[in-house]
Amino acid sequence: MTALKDKIVRLIAAAGPISVADYMALCLFDPEHGYYTTREPFGAAGDFVTAPEVSQMFGEMVAVWLHAAWQTLGQPEPVTLVEIGPGRGTMMKDMLRTLAKLDGAAFDRLSVAMVEASPRLREIQRATLGASAGRIRWTSDLSELPQDRPVFVAANELFDAVPVRQYVMTAEGWRERMVTLDDDGGLIFAAGAGGIDPDLLPASACDAPPGSIVEAAPARAALMQRIAARIARHGGAGLFFDYGTADWSIGDTLQAVRGHRFDPPLAHPGAADLTSHVDFSALAAVARTEGLATAVLPQGDFLLGMGLLERAGSLGANGSLALQERLRSEVERLAGPDAMGNLFKAMAVVPPGIAVQPFRLPAAP
Ligand code: SAH
Repeated sequence: MTALKDKIVRLIAAAGPISVADYMALCLFDPEHGYYTTREPFGAAGDFVTAPEVSQMFGEMVAVWLHAAWQTLGQPEPVTLVEIGPGRGTMMKDMLRTLAKLDGAAFDRLSVAMVEASPRLREIQRATLGASAGRIRWTSDLSELPQDRPVFVAANELFDAVPVRQYVMTAEGWRERMVTLDDDGGLIFAAGAGGIDPDLLPASACDAPPGSIVEAAPARAALMQRIAARIARHGGAGLFFDYGTADWSIGDTLQAVRGHRFDPPLAHPGAADLTSHVDFSALAAVARTEGLATAVLPQGDFLLGMGLLERAGSLGANGSLALQERLRSEVERLAGPDAMGNLFKAMAVVPPGIAVQPFRLPAAP
């Protein structure tokens, strides 16, 4: 029993079942026992490895894209570079190094911000950024940043960590999927009381047989709306990576990962990462309602289109065979179709009418 499991069991015993979204929020961000509030989960010694932790080339490609978007928009100044959910801060470190090389003078004038919900991770980010930390402003919300200028926003594996709601089709119709207690006081999933209007659920819920599960993530939509509204009002661009699909279908994608292995989602609350796949079509729809254009590519296509192979070649030139082999395996992990290349997607969010390769933008209306 984890300390958080004990707390959740007592909460449900006292106040009744909680939604999957509330369960996820407690698991990740409970101030005392939450996964991101108490742990440093990334990297070989942690529970999972994210793209920026696989290779410096990931953050480099992201920086090159954001710089190209800035140029396409006419090099506005002043601007803010923002990363939301920066984990250990590795991607920001790689982006700053790359931006300094691309245009040292503009880089000196750039304001840099990190939006991070976990105070513990902020400290780790500060340590990773070293001397650059002095110029970075940390906030817990986008709204705390200067409101008068374009923002260039990057986030990797942010939306999958924002709580998702689940709905289950029962003999009596759709119900919210809840977490409650079994007879022995253990955590189980159960259908909640009270019917759900199917019109409020994703279209895939239509005609679904009993037992089907659909997911909807209003908290993710709300976060995307805040980002998109900023870009729509003051200019800028966004680039978001997550695992998920461009076209959504029915199903339960809630998953826990602990020590690089899948773990039952109710087994170790607070001691395992808990995520669900991101519905990019839903996030894109939100950005479009703010008047922006969006495009989605598999991560592999994005990285190869940005010149990942050429970058690996130049990093390995004149290097040892061991270095070249390491770079080859990093490319394979980030972009290979059986590794992260297909499962992960890159989504661009830009003002309408601008073209930023390798996305097919401007997108069809
Ligand atoms: N981008 C990093 C970390 C991914 S894990 C990487 O690729 O390695 C998810 C990160 O998002 C963590 O840093 C977590 O604390 C943060 N996070 C989750 N929800 C957030 C929110 N609503 N606002 C800001 N940060 C959030």
